[in-house]
Amino acid sequence: MPLINYKGIGIKDGSLNDVENAIEKAKRNNKGIYAMKVLAGGYLVEDILRSISYITNNKNIDSLAIGMDSLEEIDFNSYVVENSKLPVDKNALSKNSKRVIHIEPWCEGCKNCIRACPQEALVLEYGQAKIIHEKCVRCGYCVSACEDFFIKFLNIREQ
Ligand code: SF4
Ligand code: SF4
Repeated sequence: MPLINYKGIGIKDGSLNDVENAIEKAKRNNKGIYAMKVLAGGYLVEDILRSISYITNNKNIDSLAIGMDSLEEIDFNSYVVENSKLPVDKNALSKNSKRVIHIEPWCEGCKNCIRACPQEALVLEYGQAKIIHEKCVRCGYCVSACEDFFIKFLNIREQ
């Protein structure tokens, strides 16, 4: 279950090339490969076609994991994987939802995300990062700054 995405976001102690080589070696040794963090915690969702194609074009990878929380997302992602292109209605996912930043309760308070936020939309509170939603422009810099993927984009359904 290697962490891999086309930008190498979140890879520690090595490069994207190192991970690709390790995957190749594991495959040669008959291991099943299940790619994780393909969209880097939502940071690459605007580039989903390239992100998924990077994985599906790697013959050493057998499967991939993408977090999904609605039927629309399942249909959308399945279409992209099966057809290697975006659905005609590219905005299908965003019609009834909005993207917000979510910080996991196990944030360790290292402040990397706070330093990366150009909008000063993150603060440290009780030893953990906290978002000020009114200031957030959803640029995603904080998502890629947290090496442990404790910050994610979530699609929130609007009533
Ligand atoms: S970078 Fe991650 S661990 Fe560090 S403060 Fe931000 S959310 Fe917490
Ligand atoms: S998405 Fe951008 S503006 Fe919002 S908290 Fe993260 S870095 Fe700041």
